[in-house]
This record gives sequence, C-alpha cells and structure tokens, in this order.
Amino acid sequence: MTEIKVRNYGDTLVVNNVLCIGKNYADHINEIVIPGIKNEIPKEPVVFLKPTSAIVGEGAVVSVPVVNGVKISNDIQNEVELVIVIGKDCDSVPEENALEYVYGYAVGIDFTLRDIQTECKKKGKPWAVAKGFRGSSPVSEIVKADEAGNVQDLNITLLVNGDLKQSGNTSQMIFSVKFIVSYLSKIFGLRKGDLIFTGTPAGVASLKTGDTVHAEIQNIGELNVTIG
Ligand code: MG
Repeated sequence: MTEIKVRNYGDTLVVNNVLCIGKNYADHINEIVIPGIKNEIPKEPVVFLKPTSAIVGEGAVVSVPVVNGVKISNDIQNEVELVIVIGKDCDSVPEENALEYVYGYAVGIDFTLRDIQTECKKKGKPWAVAKGFRGSSPVSEIVKADEAGNVQDLNITLLVNGDLKQSGNTSQMIFSVKFIVSYLSKIFGLRKGDLIFTGTPAGVASLKTGDTVHAEIQNIGELNVTIG
C-alpha cells in the first residue's frame, strides 16, 4: 500500500491507480525528435499507466533498474508534472462537473528511461518499462483543491543541481485538468486515490548518478529527490 500525506492536515491518502498523460505541452512535444516518427499535437490525450510501486515521496533516491547486474538504461530523464488527486469515484462525468471529483493536487516527476521509450516508439511497443519502473514517480504532499488557486495558471519548474532546466505554466497544457478528468472517467472510470500525471513542459535532460532534482509548482509545493 502506498500512502501520500495531505499538507497541513494529519490525513494520508492511499494511492489507487496511476494514470498519466503524455504530450500535453507543445514545447515538450517539439523537443522529442525521433527520426522517422512524425511529431504531431495529439487530437486525443496520450494515456499510459504506471504501477503503484512507481510512487515514492520527498527525499527519494531514484535509480535505473538493474537486471542481471546491468542497468537497463543509460538515459534517465526528468519530467516535472502537476498531479491530480481524485477524491471520489466517478464514471463518465461531464467536463463541467469534473472538478467536483478532484481532492487536490501534488507536484510529481515522471522519470523516463528515454532510450527505452524511443526504442518502444520505433517498434510500436508499450512504454511500461520506460515509464513505470519502481520509484519512477516521486510525488509531493497533496494540497487540497481549494488551496491550489487556478490550476490552469501555475508556474511549474524543475532544477537539476540548482540549474533551471524546466520552466513553464499550466496554462500551456493542450488538454486541461477538467478535460482530462472527464475523458479518463469516461474510459477507465476514476476511483478515490487515483493519481493523474498531466504532462511536462520542455526542458527534459539526461541525469546522472548523484544529481539532485528540485521540482516546484506555484501554490502546490516542492519536491526534492536524488538520482541513485
Ligand atoms: Mg510525462
């Protein structure tokens, strides 16, 4: 069981499903160039899932998995993302009511094994290993929705060893928070404790062992992890 604390309250929330949106900021779509694969703004959200073992907290050490004594990737990259936390079960909720089912928000990082993901894209294979490995998604404490302000106008940043790498605003999302909640509720149904990663702005980069990563979202909080 994976639990996340709620900031300023004694509560914790048990993580249920972990859903993720890819390609939700145009500037990030444009920075991922793979020869032979056309880079288009998606007309429908790009959706993938992670196991709950991907979720870790503040201060985590995130490592590339080792199989048969060998690290499976040489290219672990940062993706800072606003995380939606679902508070009530909902199936097929219309967009105008979607925010009623949001408990709060958190700062998350969708660490990605880019070399593996690129191979998967080329071969038409799923991204699960590249995205869902153990500890791949640190999440900060949760901020309740009424303390978050306008979630479509929050500055979102990530620093590596103190250097600014990612800097964007949630207003740049292609698919909004309420659209994403409505869309996912129609397809999967959403359940209390589900986390939804909402995509990353530009500035992803290769990380190395010992790098310190600091992610921050206006009104939501911050998150610090180390690459192991
Ligand atoms: Mg991502």
